[in-house]
Amino acid sequence: MAGKPTRLGAGLRGLCPACGGASVFSGFLGLRPACPACKADFRGIESGDGPAFFVMFLVAILITPPVVLVQLWLDPPAWAQLVVWAPVVLGLSVGLLRPFKSVLFGLNWRHKAGEARWDDREAGG
Ligand SMILES: [Zn+2]
Repeated sequence: MAGKPTRLGAGLRGLCPACGGASVFSGFLGLRPACPACKADFRGIESGDGPAFFVMFLVAILITPPVVLVQLWLDPPAWAQLVVWAPVVLGLSVGLLRPFKSVLFGLNWRHKAGEARWDDREAGG
């Protein structure tokens, strides 16, 4: 047994941010309502569109330079660029979405982030 993972390590591996003992996912991207290992309550914690946003920009940053360089050096037709890079973009996006979602979920859980409510504003929060 390697011991309790770090918070970032647990997030990257999709593990519970409280104990690191069980997955936070119930499907590919669905989240469990509670940790099966430590019973930490995950209800009301959601990462929203954050993971998709960060993955989209990271993939764009990673893919744009090689696409431009291939275009400048080899000048392939547009369909060839699409055939080569579409699977790379799709693979990177799908592959990165789960770890990003888990890390952002762990950060939201740790900092008790949630949707702002009208009651919070009136209470001075
Ligand atoms: Zn747990």
